[in-house]
Amino acid sequence: MSTLPPGATIGIIGGGQLGRMLAMAAARLGYRTIVLDPQGDCPAAQVANAQIVAAYDDAHGLARLGTASDVITYEFENVPVEAARSLAANHPVYPPPRALEVAQDRLTEKEFLNRAGISTAPFRAIDSGAQLAEALDLMGGSGVLKTRRLGYDGKGQKVFRDASGGQTDGVYEGMGAVPLILEGFVPFATEISVVAARGLDGKSRAFDPAENLHRGGILKSSTVPAKVAPQTVEAARTATLRILDALDYVGVIGVEFFVLGDGSVIANEIAPRVHNSGHWTEAACTVSQFEQHIRAICGLPLGDPKRHSDCVMENLIGDEVDQARALHAEPDLVLHLYGKSQARPGRKMGHFTRLTARA
Ligand code: AMP
Repeated sequence: MSTLPPGATIGIIGGGQLGRMLAMAAARLGYRTIVLDPQGDCPAAQVANAQIVAAYDDAHGLARLGTASDVITYEFENVPVEAARSLAANHPVYPPPRALEVAQDRLTEKEFLNRAGISTAPFRAIDSGAQLAEALDLMGGSGVLKTRRLGYDGKGQKVFRDASGGQTDGVYEGMGAVPLILEGFVPFATEISVVAARGLDGKSRAFDPAENLHRGGILKSSTVPAKVAPQTVEAARTATLRILDALDYVGVIGVEFFVLGDGSVIANEIAPRVHNSGHWTEAACTVSQFEQHIRAICGLPLGDPKRHSDCVMENLIGDEVDQARALHAEPDLVLHLYGKSQARPGRKMGHFTRLTARA
């Protein structure tokens, strides 16, 4: 595919806030967007040129999206791989469906990372209560049990610390008797993430790593620069670029890492899409992660990811969105609200980034 000219149409599967911010970035570069999402008037559809209201696996809806789009992308990692593959047979789809396949299953993801020479927590596939008891024993009684598929924001997880006999009884069944993975508990010093992009020409650029704080399994804040050693930054960046090449990736990716006490990094998770921990880029960089993704999938040169300010991005979760009025009054603050009408607990309603001069 050559460079898409302004006026071309980008199809986006998924209509949440990430799709919304992609559509806004696309509009600024002169592109049109069409969003496929089952919920009418979803956050992305409010700012896109058109919406197809259909399920993510609806063959007719997907066919309409293909016909209407010059390139197709997605804003969440649980897009059915078959849907992405069937579209990719006749249309450019970026990131490649292989990236979805790898990221949708925590077991496949860890095997892929290890094959690429990137460290992860030790892990075991768990398909029965007996396997759980045995694997937890092997890991010394500590570990994090997760569903292999469809887990996000800490959902579908159980932490064991110094568990002894009997504590695993009924846990496998309690988690739905679905395929699980037990990971060794990582005594991390900090968590960081790298948001990076790879273009159609195979060239990659990475934004500075963010230091992330989670609350109740949900990202609360991202601080840049991360307080980590230069070798840690380099290790995380190198691992991320290796992942991009191994997947022959096009677009933006987010990779989450645990940083150990000695400064080494362990990859936790790959998100084949723009990432919550990259929202700060819209305020502290000339080219945001959203614009970078649009540039990559449209065959434009990638932007310079350098940061002009230090910053802290905070999510507004549930009724924290009520702070918006006060935040409007603050200088050097970029506020972003997602157009969601109901502030349910745990729901990401918006975010803001506070800028300070570069140290
Ligand atoms: P995840 O859904 O895998 O991103 O996990 C959500 C959060 O749980 C992570 O950001 C960590 O704070 C924590 N966590 C997940 N896996 C582990 C692990 N193996 N060891 C320690 N903490 C973990």
